[in-house]
Amino acid sequence: MACVKADGYGHGLSVAADALENCVDGFAVACMEEALALRKEHADKPLLVLEGLQSADEIELAITQNIALCICAEHQLRWLESHPGARRPRCWLKVDTGMHRMGLQPGDTPAAYSQLRSLVPPSSEIVLCTHFARADERGDNGCAEQLRRFDQAVSGISEPQSCANSAAILSLPAVARSWVRPGYMLYGGSPFADTTPAQLNLLPGMEFSARVINLHTVAAGERVGYGGRWQANRETRIATIAAGYGDGYPRLAPDGTPVLIEGKRLPLAGRVSMDMLTVDVSEHPSVRIGSEAVLWGADPGVDEIAHHVGTIGYELLAALPQRALREVHYGPMRSAPSSTATAVQRTSTK
Ligand SMILES: *Cc1c(COP(=O)(O)O)cnc(C)c1O
Repeated sequence: MACVKADGYGHGLSVAADALENCVDGFAVACMEEALALRKEHADKPLLVLEGLQSADEIELAITQNIALCICAEHQLRWLESHPGARRPRCWLKVDTGMHRMGLQPGDTPAAYSQLRSLVPPSSEIVLCTHFARADERGDNGCAEQLRRFDQAVSGISEPQSCANSAAILSLPAVARSWVRPGYMLYGGSPFADTTPAQLNLLPGMEFSARVINLHTVAAGERVGYGGRWQANRETRIATIAAGYGDGYPRLAPDGTPVLIEGKRLPLAGRVSMDMLTVDVSEHPSVRIGSEAVLWGADPGVDEIAHHVGTIGYELLAALPQRALREVHYGPMRSAPSSTATAVQRTSTK
């Protein structure tokens, strides 16, 4: 079950779904709006809404559009029960074993399961699932305790099970069970702070790049960008790149964050603006107007950029706006990433 929520982790919902369609048995999204958008393009694929129901109105849509719901609260069960008519959508049932965000309490699970079982057709499987809070951490990360609570809550119930996100798939293969729910790893990111995608044999699905649109020299002592954060300690050649936080590059990136231009990692110099950012290219004379600057991709990886900013790659990908022009390439990954989000110079002003 491939997670394509948050606009396919920023890659575009239909881009991600098209690329993954033949490799997976279904798609998971966060909410009904995402499921409906996906259903328009993938008429037959199993779809699952991970948050279940935000309102009782969504039940009819789930039935008519054949969208499965992950039932993860008592009130969602009550809505299902009081829904008029005999038809019910396909359902998963989530147990809260420690994440404490969504899910039935373990002690309430057997009764909730019986109730749900009586509502949905006997032939319709109810996948029992839970979600780990700290599977991305090494050592005693609570997964064993969560799994113990899960197994206890569902003991004696003979239905398929699903426990693993990317981190659990990669670090606890024994918990795979019937369905796995990978998200981030499908896009080539590492869910672990101490492990690179390459170490996990993962290749990035996205390259985020933009062009050098200006090159100039600033004298020693001059400052670059808003707030004058960066100051030249020598005569410096500055390249201006046509992407900023309005394109999804994080404004909080500090000076020194790497940008790859003409094969060399060069340091960000100055605060990121809405539409542009600036790089010290003094050490690389082959940078020219029109050179492509890789903001993240194979090198530097999105996780590395996220680390500089104090967040995770997930957030940078999920925050990519629609604004960036996307070039999509399907096919086997070679040295270059297969999907490119390119920020083009726009006519807009800041
Ligand atoms: C988002 C999500 C996943 C996927 O998590 P990754 O860390 O991206 O693999 C799996 N299960 C649930 C319930 C989720 O919300």
